[in-house]
Amino acid sequence: MKVFKFGGASVKDADGIKNVYSVLDQVGHDDVLLVISAMGKTTNALEVVIKNYIDKSAELQASVQEVKKYHNQILMDLFEDDKNEVFAAVNKIFADLESFLKNNKSPNYNFVYDQIVSLGEIMSTTIVSHYFNFRGLKNQWLDVREFIKTDNNYRDASVDWDQTQKNIAKGVKKKNLNITQGFLGSDENNFTTTLGREGSDYTAAIFAYCLNAESVTIWKDVPGVLNADPRYFENAILLNQISYREAIELAFYGATVIHPKTLQPLQKKEIPLYVKSFINPLLPGTSVSKGADLEPHTSCFIVKKNQLLISLSSLDFSFIMEENISEIFLLLHKYKMKVHLIQNSAISFSVCVDDKFGNFTELKNILSKKFQVTYNDNVSLYTIRHFNEKSAGAVAQNKEVLVRQISRETMQIVTKEA
Ligand code: ADP
Ligand code: ASP
Ligand code: MG
Repeated sequence: MKVFKFGGASVKDADGIKNVYSVLDQVGHDDVLLVISAMGKTTNALEVVIKNYIDKSAELQASVQEVKKYHNQILMDLFEDDKNEVFAAVNKIFADLESFLKNNKSPNYNFVYDQIVSLGEIMSTTIVSHYFNFRGLKNQWLDVREFIKTDNNYRDASVDWDQTQKNIAKGVKKKNLNITQGFLGSDENNFTTTLGREGSDYTAAIFAYCLNAESVTIWKDVPGVLNADPRYFENAILLNQISYREAIELAFYGATVIHPKTLQPLQKKEIPLYVKSFINPLLPGTSVSKGADLEPHTSCFIVKKNQLLISLSSLDFSFIMEENISEIFLLLHKYKMKVHLIQNSAISFSVCVDDKFGNFTELKNILSKKFQVTYNDNVSLYTIRHFNEKSAGAVAQNKEVLVRQISRETMQIVTKEA
């Protein structure tokens, strides 16, 4: 069996969905499990709904209507008239949302988030599945929450592999074209959970692992994995082959084209991951598999924007040692800061972090009791894998460098945004 993942960009409008159909037509769709994300920027739009709901904002209804309008437009463009039963199916999803907004009693933000944000994937797969049927392509819509079981760490749930493996082995019919949602799972009480933003790639890997799939293909708006994000770097070149190890490094440092959790399950079973263009589906793209580390061997550039550089120094000139450092890390963990770079000297300690959950003010208050805290927000973290003098110079050019760190293969610099 093959697992295909289509992300938000590939299904952002009716033409995108028609193109997914055409991709399957060209590359084949027997024995395929399709994992699909929410359409376009729906997850962001639902995050606005969630915020409005939590803040009891007067904008709540308007934000729901926006999501509805967007999906309705896609439906109108895809189906000849509104007789297709997909209209009722999508209306039902919105009715469920309204009912949740009216009846929910839970004050748990992360719980509320997952119950609402998940509707993006439920809608996209419902629409794609109906559209394929409409075009005569029979398929089986699967509710991923009946397969991927997780703990109840809402917004960043961990997979219960044993249970998930059993569900998938029992419930996924191999000969079908199966369509399911990325990003979602469910906890032991069957409440919806999510695997972390951009988690649909990971969903594809979970299914591939449990199905012993032949391969996973993630279909993108780029020709494959490039040596840099083309949004920020000119003249990025296509990488034909990357080893699992190198791909894990690239994803870990922030090459957002592959979600970092995706690679470990695939590597364990040596299932190849192909990253291909949904615009030119017959081109080879990138293969992540056992084999050459990086082909062609070249410097790779990764940038993480909007990072926070926190520097701590002791109040009394005492050293910052193991004991303080472990305490600092416990706090970083508690406040869900994602640490991307560490540097320390005798009396100071700097970390470059992603404050994904907006917890810095609270953390700073606690740290300030023990340390002098200085920080720069909105900094960029550049990572160059396989750097050389030329590539390192090019990145640092015209930038104010706050931190520089070099190891054998990797150079990282933190810069102030211009
Ligand atoms: P999806 O629709 O599957 O969620 P994403 O938008 O998350 O797709 O990922 C594709 C985008 O990843 C590309 O448009 C590109 O801007 C970005 N990207 C970041 N780093 C790289 C890289 N090294 N190679 C290719 N694309 C990259
Ligand atoms: N829809 C989710 C997100 O935007 C998951 C994904 O696209 O991978 O984060
Ligand atoms: Mg994405």
